[in-house]
Amino acid sequence: MKKFVILGGGYGGLTIAKDLIEGFVPNDVEIVLVDRSPFQGLKTEYYALAAGTVSDHELRINFPKSDKLTRKFGEVRSIDLDNKHIHFENEGEPMSYDQLVIGLGCTDRFHNTPGAEEYSSTIQSFSSTRKTYLRLNEIQPYGTVHIVGGGLSGVEMAAELRESREDLNIKIMDRGERVLSAFPQRLSKYVHEWFKEHDVDAHSHVSISRVEPNAIYNREEKIYTDAVVWTAGIQPVKVVQDLQVAKDPQGRVVLNEYYQIPQYTDVYVVGDCASLPFSPSGQAAEVQGEQVAHIVRDLWKGHTPHPHPLKLRGTLGALGKKAGFGYGFMGNASLMGRVPRLLKSGVLWKSRRHFG
Ligand SMILES: Cc1cc2nc3c(=O)[nH]c(=O)nc-3n(C[C@H](O)[C@H](O)[C@H](O)COP(=O)(O)OP(=O)(O)OC[C@H]3O[C@@H](n4cnc5c(N)ncnc54)[C@H](O)[C@@H]3O)c2cc1C
Repeated sequence: MKKFVILGGGYGGLTIAKDLIEGFVPNDVEIVLVDRSPFQGLKTEYYALAAGTVSDHELRINFPKSDKLTRKFGEVRSIDLDNKHIHFENEGEPMSYDQLVIGLGCTDRFHNTPGAEEYSSTIQSFSSTRKTYLRLNEIQPYGTVHIVGGGLSGVEMAAELRESREDLNIKIMDRGERVLSAFPQRLSKYVHEWFKEHDVDAHSHVSISRVEPNAIYNREEKIYTDAVVWTAGIQPVKVVQDLQVAKDPQGRVVLNEYYQIPQYTDVYVVGDCASLPFSPSGQAAEVQGEQVAHIVRDLWKGHTPHPHPLKLRGTLGALGKKAGFGYGFMGNASLMGRVPRLLKSGVLWKSRRHFG
């Protein structure tokens, strides 16, 4: 049997696994799905797990069961592209592959800020999000939380934490002029107004220079804090950082038209690890995953693949459970209020159905 190994059962890897097993797999091919967890974590909702407004169990989706699929649980340590071997933590024997998909997602980028990695809480993995939940929910009444980074996940984190705990002092710190700088100004204004109304302090032009156990520094100014949540940058996971292949300025792997590594055409890269013409997102990982599944199937059948350009719908964000915002729908209109929040819940429902 030939081994088609998928590393990472997230939005990208799992889309490929499902599309292949529900479609066509040659009789001499075994698909192996590798993940450290025995379920998919719905990462787009990790801010709610950290805030304590949803339970761990609500964000888990069991991996598919099929006689065409073998599941392997373990922590990938490194990939040897020349010898086609995957090395695991605490396992002597590597796993070999014939074809490989790398879909291991991303981790935090701390921009070399002293103390940030050691003393911040984060929401980029299921495990770190659980720890963040404990940290935030054990803070004494009227304690203070600083959220560093005013992008989508920082904004969602701040709003959800307010919904979870009305006593906390919540401060969101961004180095730019406004939160959601990648979105139209109108949306930032709406979010700033929501923050004002819900007593979340938004600080702009902040430059975090150091984090200590109970302090955060804006340049030279030392500010007392009970917890820092870091949402100020991402990069592909360490296993991908260690690969000696061409990368883009964000550290994502540069690919050919079939999403393969050009000098290792048996290796596909999907999702946050792949250099795509958009910012990393679950939506991009899924759309790309569908294309990769088509390409792999065509090649198995001896056909020439004709990949379509990737097309994304808009982006939606939540401000607690009742309000939200969206951009990129219906001629790039900005959506604000209850409707985009309902649309976001609909997307989550669809995700649960698609993967579950
Ligand atoms: C708070 C938050 C909100 C977000 N909101 C949105 C949103 O509204 N819309 C949107 O489109 N995107 C959103 N995103 C981004 C989205 O979650 C990611 O872009 C998406 O999950 C990437 O998919 P992926 O398949 O590349 O990786 P992932 O979904 O992260 O999957 C990677 C998998 O690899 C496994 N893994 C990683 N390392 C190892 C290892 N060493 N060994 C074994 N297994 C490993 C993990 O367990 C995981 O299952 C959000 C992200 C966050 C953090």
